[in-house]
Amino acid sequence: MVRGIAIALLVLAAALAAALYVWNDRPDLERYSPWVAERWRGAPGVTVSFLGVSTLLISDGETHLMTDGFFSRPSLWDVAVGELAPDPERIGDGLARAGAHRLDAVIVLHSHYDHAMDAPDVAERTGAVLVGSESTANIARGRGLPNAQIVVPEAGLPLSFGRFTLTMIESRHLPHGIAEGTIAEPLVPPARALDYKQGKTYIAHLSHPSGDIAVVGSAGFVEGALTPYRSEIVLLGVGGLGNMTEQYRETFYREVVDRLQPTRVIPIHYDDFTRPLSQPLALFPRIVDDFDQTMEELQRRASTIGFELQLLPLADAVLLLDS
Ligand SMILES: [Zn+2]
Repeated sequence: MVRGIAIALLVLAAALAAALYVWNDRPDLERYSPWVAERWRGAPGVTVSFLGVSTLLISDGETHLMTDGFFSRPSLWDVAVGELAPDPERIGDGLARAGAHRLDAVIVLHSHYDHAMDAPDVAERTGAVLVGSESTANIARGRGLPNAQIVVPEAGLPLSFGRFTLTMIESRHLPHGIAEGTIAEPLVPPARALDYKQGKTYIAHLSHPSGDIAVVGSAGFVEGALTPYRSEIVLLGVGGLGNMTEQYRETFYREVVDRLQPTRVIPIHYDDFTRPLSQPLALFPRIVDDFDQTMEELQRRASTIGFELQLLPLADAVLLLDS
């Protein structure tokens, strides 16, 4: 009996050690520091500040737009077994770190919690309108954001913000099968991570007199959907891409990167968003997402297709387009 218990405990300890090993087997983000773009020195133009996942502050000095606005970054434990709610302190810290006091729009790329959960709070604090799908609108309604501050765009129809023209292009999510479907009723937090269902997935295309920018929140595509569009800058959500099949990745690069004919491609959505922004960014475990694989392929593509591949520093602005 005692021997049986001892063996069971040993097996359990070995399983835990193995799980811990797999969880900690992560590519090293430091390795990519030579790819990090130089910080903005104040020249006029359109800048971007990266705040983890696909949260970006894009500004031409007059108009300030934010994609997603996700700062709460709840722990893995809360995501797996708990309930989630926007964290006012982390949202405040994140906005302050980005220098985002007033925003014209918060543009939500889809309704999973790591994109949409904090967006209503960000809109409320900064006076921005929230642009997103009907599912995202239900997250906003559940948080009490007035309808006047919510815009559900008609796909393909442009919206104007200062000198930016925003087109929300309908796309697809990377097919991981988690929290698919739509949010049909106002969603009141706290709620489970899986309650933040995907809704529509968009690529945000921003046209500006200085040039065009596309923000891709998830590594999915609709064949041919980007044919009419061009974009010098592509901010490319690569979350989960490293673990898709080679054929999927190839089609994604062709349908999204090649179609837009960028001069610069900047991967985003590679950081482990169960860690707070107060800690340095870290990559996901290889078993979840092999970022080395993604970067190797993007480097190859950069040299054959002819674009520059860069990463962004955390929170510091980088110049995207000269005015
Ligand atoms: Zn997602």
